[in-house]
Amino acid sequence: MRPAVLITDPLHPSGVEALRSAGVKVDYRPGIPHEELLAVVGRYDALIVRGRTKVTREILEAGRGRLRAVCRAGVGLDNIDLGAAKALRVRVFNTPEASTEAVAELTVALMLSLARRLPYADRSMKEGRWAKKELMGFELKGKTLGIVGFGRIGQRVAEICSALGMRILAYRRTRPLGIEEVLARTGARLVGSLEELLRAADIITLHVPLTPQTRHMIGEREIAMMKEGAILINTSRGGVIDEEALYRALVEGKLAAAALDVFEEEPPRGTSLKLAQLPNVVATPHIGAQTVEAQETASRLAAQKLLEFFRSEGLLRASIDPPQTSNKSLKSRRPRTERHS
Ligand code: NAD
Repeated sequence: MRPAVLITDPLHPSGVEALRSAGVKVDYRPGIPHEELLAVVGRYDALIVRGRTKVTREILEAGRGRLRAVCRAGVGLDNIDLGAAKALRVRVFNTPEASTEAVAELTVALMLSLARRLPYADRSMKEGRWAKKELMGFELKGKTLGIVGFGRIGQRVAEICSALGMRILAYRRTRPLGIEEVLARTGARLVGSLEELLRAADIITLHVPLTPQTRHMIGEREIAMMKEGAILINTSRGGVIDEEALYRALVEGKLAAAALDVFEEEPPRGTSLKLAQLPNVVATPHIGAQTVEAQETASRLAAQKLLEFFRSEGLLRASIDPPQTSNKSLKSRRPRTERHS
């Protein structure tokens, strides 16, 4: 019997095509209501979801006997009951590597927007004003950039910003093998503590996952360590910053400006909304991964990971599979377990 996959959220066609051409039966039903999903999930070996579908214990139990894997085309796994999946031996995958370029480019776009006050400049033009005299910016060249979290996205930001002539400091929890090459290529220096980075950087950008250790890792104490007039950018997760502390620092002028793509509450309410509405904040509605390329890659990688899983489980014979788009082994990649989408 051919393996069967149900896709329950909108997905770029590349992944659907990859699965079908490998001999997998694919039902594409984006937006399927919860009750219907409950009724049909037991007919599938795997689900592909994005952020909308809630893969609850009830859904996983309804799939018992056949459902072997759930793949989130995207980063966060907060819509999947990971405990239930583990108990029911349902493998969970995601595709965090798909959005690296998109998030890194957004980070640099936000940095440039703040440096040249582009949102304000554009708004003033639309209002029929010629605000040239108000729009004195600064250059990124020669500034010190502090990158907190030096993984996929942090390293890509370093690559782009080294080309802009920035001096780069990076801080991460561990020093993995192979980091020397990227440090040499970007000229980035790994610092020994978060405090060292915060005290030295003109611009600080956050690229850590949201975990119990990183929740509010930037609070009143850390902001006090930053330079007067420093700039903070967050394209990681809202909870990494204590938003009340950031709001005060922006209103009181300790920090010159901030750019935020992510908020503790999304869509923003309360303090998150107050922050987004400050004149010295550039805010975007969690668009880090919203590029055509990132969506296409997430879809293709989701299909690729499922195909590899089906093969390893003997659900798919190697002979009917076409050549894969990537020759990298995916076996060692574990699902990421951060809690926000
Ligand atoms: P990654 O796992 O490759 O890198 C994370 C880095 O954070 C690693 O260097 C790790 O050592 C470091 N880190 C973890 N805990 C730490 C701690 N307590 N102190 C210091 N460093 C710590 O992840 P990535 O692909 O670079 O993504 C980074 C984050 O970006 C994601 O976790 C996600 O939250 C966010 N993201 C946002 C969007 C968006 O739409 N804005 C899209 C994709 C990812």
